[in-house]
Amino acid sequence: MDTLEKATAAAGARMIERLGILRGISQTEDWLERTLFSPAAEEAAFQLKTWMEAAGMTVGYDELTNIYGYLPLAEAGPDAPRIHIGSHYDTVVNAGAFDGALGVVLAIAVAEAVAESGIPFRHNLSALAFCDEEGVRFNTTFLGSAYLSGQFEKAWLDKKDPYGKSLGEWLVDRAESIDAILHAQPYIRAQDYFLEAHIEQGPVLEGAAAALGVFTRIAAQLRSEVVLVGCAGHAGTTPARLRKDPLPVAAEIILAVDALCQSDESLRATVGHIEVSPNASNVIPGQVKLAIDLRYPNAEGLNAAHLRLIAEIEAIVARSRVGHHYRVVHGADDTPLDPDLTELLAASCQQVQGSAIRMFSGAGHDSMKIASVCPAAMLAVRCRDGLSHHPDEFSSEADCLLAFRAMLTAVIKIDQTR
Ligand SMILES: [Zn+2]
Repeated sequence: MDTLEKATAAAGARMIERLGILRGISQTEDWLERTLFSPAAEEAAFQLKTWMEAAGMTVGYDELTNIYGYLPLAEAGPDAPRIHIGSHYDTVVNAGAFDGALGVVLAIAVAEAVAESGIPFRHNLSALAFCDEEGVRFNTTFLGSAYLSGQFEKAWLDKKDPYGKSLGEWLVDRAESIDAILHAQPYIRAQDYFLEAHIEQGPVLEGAAAALGVFTRIAAQLRSEVVLVGCAGHAGTTPARLRKDPLPVAAEIILAVDALCQSDESLRATVGHIEVSPNASNVIPGQVKLAIDLRYPNAEGLNAAHLRLIAEIEAIVARSRVGHHYRVVHGADDTPLDPDLTELLAASCQQVQGSAIRMFSGAGHDSMKIASVCPAAMLAVRCRDGLSHHPDEFSSEADCLLAFRAMLTAVIKIDQTR
């Protein structure tokens, strides 16, 4: 067995073991939950630092609790391009054990295989563990990767957690300097490369009987809210002809969103949240609020779907007796990932599994943030039933190991060709 193969086998075995260890680090015994600044996140960070140090990396732990392991292998020193590999180590509430965590332990395994094998390597190599991708505590987006890539927004300091404590207050309590945070030099720079392995969080790879694929882009997304205003009344006394009940109207809108979703294979349209007021069994509802989430591989398709949605809602409301307000809450254009780096990753998939499926990601990722700073690419890993953000989230050991091999192959290729 050559030294690279030996180091790869050893690093792969440790990677699987570490996934199991991270799964056990949670802020509650009832489910997996690791949110920013929680004791569980601190414990996971300590564990990750230990593993990075064991791999011979210089380890940094920044103000926001991002962790970066660094192998200074380039002869040209720290200004030479860095190949970063990484993902996030925070989770949602009642999370699965693979979302984010797989990409983090895989990044460390790649660095270990390179370091232990002693293969010639010309770039600086970096393994990243982002502190907060899910935004559970402060409802932020990509806080960790935004900070490491120099895109931290000052306004985020005022964002409050569910207990009313702001990010700025948290940082001051943690003895961090706000001034230093606002003037920090970005660790991820324009001359670098970023690669992320992440479970697919959808059913495409499983349907194609493939362990791995690449995301070519991250979908455009639009979140909107429709408020239907009727008139509350006594459920026992008011006949139908005198009611202004917004709930049946909301039901029609939900069906219209579902029909929209079914009309286009590339479109995702969801009503995931509904608020009924006053929400009592003997009261005709007075108001209903619906949250609608639309995603499409590109902005044009998303806009077209959005216009259809608005027309549907207006038609439904027009034939009812209720009023409505509609507003867009959040919109993000699609993010293309770097075509050259993506093709290189696809070639690695081809090499390790004989095929390379190219698809878009309907879920947002740190790569999306980093893609505006340096070339970024994503490796997608099959997960059972396409399930994610769920305790039954699962990727097989064989698929995780194959992902590790594909990533290692890609990293070595980047090093040799760039
Ligand atoms: Zn994730």
